[in-house]
Amino acid sequence: MGEWDGPGHQTGAVAPPIFQTSLFTKPSFEEFTRQQAAEHENYVYSRGTNPTVAFLEERLALLEGGEAAKCFGSGMGAISAVLAGLLRSGDHVLFVNNVYGPTLELAEYLRRFGIEHTVLAEATADIEDHLRDDTALIYVESPGTLRMKVLDVPALTRVARRRGIRTVMDNTWSTPLFQKPLASGVDIVVHSLTKYIGGHSDVVGGAAIGSREVIREVFYNGHQLFGSVMSAQEASLVLRGLRTLPLRMEEHQRNARRVVDHLAQRPEVQAVHHPHADHRPDEEIVRSQFTGFSGLLSFELGDATFERVAAFVDGLSLFRIGTSWGGYESLVTAPLRPGTEAELRSRGIAPGTVRLSVGLEGAERQIEDLEGAFAKL
Ligand SMILES: *Cc1c(COP(=O)(O)O)cnc(C)c1O
Repeated sequence: MGEWDGPGHQTGAVAPPIFQTSLFTKPSFEEFTRQQAAEHENYVYSRGTNPTVAFLEERLALLEGGEAAKCFGSGMGAISAVLAGLLRSGDHVLFVNNVYGPTLELAEYLRRFGIEHTVLAEATADIEDHLRDDTALIYVESPGTLRMKVLDVPALTRVARRRGIRTVMDNTWSTPLFQKPLASGVDIVVHSLTKYIGGHSDVVGGAAIGSREVIREVFYNGHQLFGSVMSAQEASLVLRGLRTLPLRMEEHQRNARRVVDHLAQRPEVQAVHHPHADHRPDEEIVRSQFTGFSGLLSFELGDATFERVAAFVDGLSLFRIGTSWGGYESLVTAPLRPGTEAELRSRGIAPGTVRLSVGLEGAERQIEDLEGAFAKL
């Protein structure tokens, strides 16, 4: 992670200090005016920059291979700052591949400000057919976090660059350890730090990473004016998470591979969705773009009714029922609500879909818990 080299480093403290201060005073008025004029690179006020948060931003930029990063109070804080900060009335956005629900709700909300969008739920090759003269941004997830389909990211960014369209990718599922979108030509990477990077289910946060120029634009428009700020306390929790990220991701991966292999053998399971699962039509892309896989996956229960999905979910005990993912504890949720089978099918989602966040308790216990729930069906 690199040692703290900011103020106070002479003390030899091994953990980055938490700068619990809302503002930073200056020795002269002239110095104050100089620093305030470039608030993105000076400590003036903690809604803008703070040393603990800045240390985390440097680490995240390094991990993603970007020039700069900005942290936010949540993943949605980062996503809304990027969209609202970079777009203007009359712009069009193309969303590709099962994008996170609240991101699409935000896109819907932005219509009232004259920002239009199209959603391409499938990871198709014909992106170009869906671009318009006013398309200003392409926003993607790969894999999408429900059906786990992946995109040919370099092919997509080649088209976007040729047309002068910026690209944004939500890389929360992979973390920067397993996929590096900026190296594939993506302009801005966004993260929910709430998931694997925080890693302990005790902090909500987000980040945007890219070139110095684009992050500066996001800072002045999206961050300063919307005010979704990450506190120094939260930054220190995320920094603590970063220290064990490689170890945790290896273990999530190991456990998830075993859970995927196990689910694939169960007669009640019609399909397993995870980049590790066999016989994927997009195997080639998976091999070329990922250096590892995280522990979030989904599978399809056959003969699905709400009662059957509920019976399975309630039959688990180690996997606890809840939204979010990426922490120590294994979690389970499902998209089905009573009476929504047809609506889900129309969106290409099997009604029996169950989503698991495979945590760190160990594959033996996780598989035993799944077996128990299958037995109760
Ligand atoms: C959770 C999540 C977000 C939003 O992050 P918050 O920290 O909850 O605001 C965005 N994208 C994906 C893929 C997520 O899972």
